[in-house]
Amino acid sequence: MKDILDLVRENIRKLTPYSTARDDCKIKMDVYLDANENPYENGVNRYPSPFQQELKQRLAVLKKLKSENIFLGNGSDEAIDLIYRIFCEPNKSSALIISPSYGMYSVAADINAVEIIKYRLEENFELDAKKMLSLAREDTKVIFICSPNNPSGNLLSRKEIEYVIDNFNGIVVVDEAYIDFAKSSSFSALVTEKKNLVVLQTLSKLYAMAGLRIGIAIADSTVVRIMNSVKYPYNISCINQQMALSLLKEPFKIMEQCSIIVEEREYLEERLKVLPTVKKIFKSDANFLLVKFIDKSIVFKTLTENGVIVRDRSSLEGCGNSLRITVGTPEENDRMLGIVYALSGMEFCPRERNRNMERESGERRAILSRETSETSIQIALNLDRFSTPFISTGLHFFDHMLEQIAYHAAIGLNIIAVGDLERDDHHTVEDVAITLAQAFDRALGSRKGIERYGFSLPMDEAEATVLIDLGGRIDFEWEVKFSGAMIGDVNAQMFNHFFKSFAQNLKCNLHIKAKGENDHHIIEGVFKAFARALKCAIREDRQNAGIPSSKGKL
Ligand SMILES: *Cc1c(COP(=O)(O)O)cnc(C)c1O
Repeated sequence: MKDILDLVRENIRKLTPYSTARDDCKIKMDVYLDANENPYENGVNRYPSPFQQELKQRLAVLKKLKSENIFLGNGSDEAIDLIYRIFCEPNKSSALIISPSYGMYSVAADINAVEIIKYRLEENFELDAKKMLSLAREDTKVIFICSPNNPSGNLLSRKEIEYVIDNFNGIVVVDEAYIDFAKSSSFSALVTEKKNLVVLQTLSKLYAMAGLRIGIAIADSTVVRIMNSVKYPYNISCINQQMALSLLKEPFKIMEQCSIIVEEREYLEERLKVLPTVKKIFKSDANFLLVKFIDKSIVFKTLTENGVIVRDRSSLEGCGNSLRITVGTPEENDRMLGIVYALSGMEFCPRERNRNMERESGERRAILSRETSETSIQIALNLDRFSTPFISTGLHFFDHMLEQIAYHAAIGLNIIAVGDLERDDHHTVEDVAITLAQAFDRALGSRKGIERYGFSLPMDEAEATVLIDLGGRIDFEWEVKFSGAMIGDVNAQMFNHFFKSFAQNLKCNLHIKAKGENDHHIIEGVFKAFARALKCAIREDRQNAGIPSSKGKL
């Protein structure tokens, strides 16, 4: 791979970007006499943050990335356009794209006078990396791949995409606008290692902010820096930044919507495939289905006449007679199905939907959000249903420890914590403990009918003993010694602090003892033993309606 700067157009490499007085100041200012703004506050009288630091910080935690690898644009469209402007010479360069795919790759190329070379995807819209690369020429500077692909909906082979990235001497863009709906991990984790990779994501699809126009490019920090220097200085308005920030503080709502949309996609597929008018439904890992009909025109016309609009993609390569149907709400999907069934002369019986009821009945759950000037923490807890934990605090090792709680207590636990880590880890660790304790407190409710006591003795690799009593009195004992100052990326002394804050805020007795040679193993043993003790204590004691107590407290 060439040095990334060698791929950049000369005029861009030599560019002195526009700078503002506020870019350079590190300390907090409170009198702004630098930008000729009207000083009378109305909420929008100031220029917005040019590099959207706060929004990037939150996205970095949500996506487990670093801020320096994130570029934000006015939709993905801005990122696509910038990539052409940075890496392609007008009338000289070409770009290689897959076909059929998203229309903006060629529109933006045309605008920038960049020639497009199309690689036609294989049977079932699969990617053959070697075949694609054989079409690249000396003047080919950029390759666009879209996965899951629009309009076909399928995820392309990870191995084939990696082959393209590793064997192309230019920029490879992997557009992941729909990655959240797929059961596959993003390529974004690879950007620090693969310098020529740019991953596109967006807040327009799952994140429900198409109206805000915020696109995300994830790349090596050098590429991000160049994109920042070429973009308009204030490309995302302050209203849009604020709105995105506040909507991103409800991540669990989005996760829930994601699972509903994926379920609905499967439902739609099931219901559509039995129709005689339907020829084929392509496999989808996105929030839409590409459906090939015997005669798409009549379906399109009938849907439109009944107020339902879908996308006619029949003119694209390999998409003859196909309509792209976005997954809507359950009601919208049934309405669409009703129309298509009627057209086929078949009776449509809407499915009974008891999904949410079933999921929520009787389960002890809590969703909590806690904001201070130092941290913003969201926790979703379910004491009665394990699910794969999603935990991101910006502290890699701490995430790993918190995951042990979910696995070893067999509970559902998702935690997102955005804290002032540029200062230190103190507030983040403490506030996660407080919020976690509050979540347990809320999920446990009156604490009636639970086992109340839990203990875990040293076993296998864990050298830790943990005793817990959820009876309502606070007592904390900690007999754990570490030999180093740091464990992973966390200050060792923070762990004492974590459990102490937890005990105080849940109002419980917590006694922790552990010893060993290796700090990693000690603390991992503590978290596992803590989780097992917790698992016993929160268990519902069906025989016993009240709280077991000999003293009458509680
Ligand atoms: C919808 C979509 C986008 C997102 O575009 P925005 O400009 O961010 O709204 C990007 N790529 C593909 C393939 C899409 O379908």
